[in-house]
Amino acid sequence: MRFWLIFLAISTFTFAAKVKFTRWDKGVTFEQYLKKFHIDKNIIDTLDREDQALISEIGYTHKYYELIASNGVLLQSLIPIGEELQAHLFRTHSGYKLEIIPIAYQKDTHIAILSVDKSPHYDIINKVKNRRLANEFTRLLKHSIDFRGVQRGDKIVIVYDQKMRLGQPLGVPDIKVAMLESHGKKNYVFKHSDGKYYNADGKALIEKYMGKPLNHLIITSPFTTRRWHPVLHKWKAHHGIDCRARRGTPILAAADGKVVYSGWMSGYGRVIKIQHADNYLTLYAHQSRLKAKVGQFVKKGDIIGYTGNSGRSTGPHLHFGLYKDGRPINPMRLVKFTTDGLTGKDRENFLNRKRKYTKIINKIEEENLPSYVWNTVNDMYVLPKMKTYYQNRGW
Ligand SMILES: [Zn+2]
Repeated sequence: MRFWLIFLAISTFTFAAKVKFTRWDKGVTFEQYLKKFHIDKNIIDTLDREDQALISEIGYTHKYYELIASNGVLLQSLIPIGEELQAHLFRTHSGYKLEIIPIAYQKDTHIAILSVDKSPHYDIINKVKNRRLANEFTRLLKHSIDFRGVQRGDKIVIVYDQKMRLGQPLGVPDIKVAMLESHGKKNYVFKHSDGKYYNADGKALIEKYMGKPLNHLIITSPFTTRRWHPVLHKWKAHHGIDCRARRGTPILAAADGKVVYSGWMSGYGRVIKIQHADNYLTLYAHQSRLKAKVGQFVKKGDIIGYTGNSGRSTGPHLHFGLYKDGRPINPMRLVKFTTDGLTGKDRENFLNRKRKYTKIINKIEEENLPSYVWNTVNDMYVLPKMKTYYQNRGW
């Protein structure tokens, strides 16, 4: 909230300034964006090393806010980086300033219960008004059920967290439980604390797993979309995992795909990006030597380069990033590290979690709460959309 107050405070002094909520041109880098407004790109050097690496991801941004004076001068912009953080670029008396700040959002847990009229995908879009939820649901259940056998009247239950920012859903919904009851059989998928999905028996969902990017994978820094740094006193993010590796260790393609980038990126140093099926993209940073070339098709396990210390890095390691539809996701979700099923204490925790969720779902069913959607987006506390907000104030 604090950051919106900043936004408002500055804008009150600037009459005839316009707020725009627009689409970022795909592939445009933050440096190119600065150039457009004649801002010195050295402003990036005022950030610390990790934040500079984050800035280089801005080309994947979807929509962003801009406040522009009537003479075309940029007063302020808020550009999302991933789902949790944003670059805040603003003009002061002594020139432009740049900082990385958290995105203010609200997160709510929703439970959607609906029956099938046409198809699960269609009905979720139509009744819950959330296309990404429909995509996630289909992705999770397509391995355990043949959707062609689904009939009118079959039942869908989804428990999920959805972030909202200024009245718009932010990011991919985080499904906790998905259930499709078809032919009298309830097919469940549960998310476990390891971030992976399992069926009701604790068996791992059969997904198209990726391979490891290094033969011996030792993770030194995990993936986070947002964590509070206790020493620096600021929010940080790490859009990938760091893996320990001696300089010159072969880097392996995590899956079949096409090399779409092989070169230098500020922050990430020598980088290779591979485009895979289903809109997945992997990124391998800080290399000492690049082997794969742009346009080349690689197979899972092929050597694409060698680990190093290039870019903003404190020592030789591999930074491995995974993106789905341009958004960073935790590579641990798709890279196969362990066995297929949960065992021991892990399994116990999973079953406890499962009991908790099925109890909630059963309660809603028993008490006969509205049969299609419970707690939809419309019932939520939502901030007014920026456009109307500013218009009402005569700007
Ligand atoms: Zn890293």
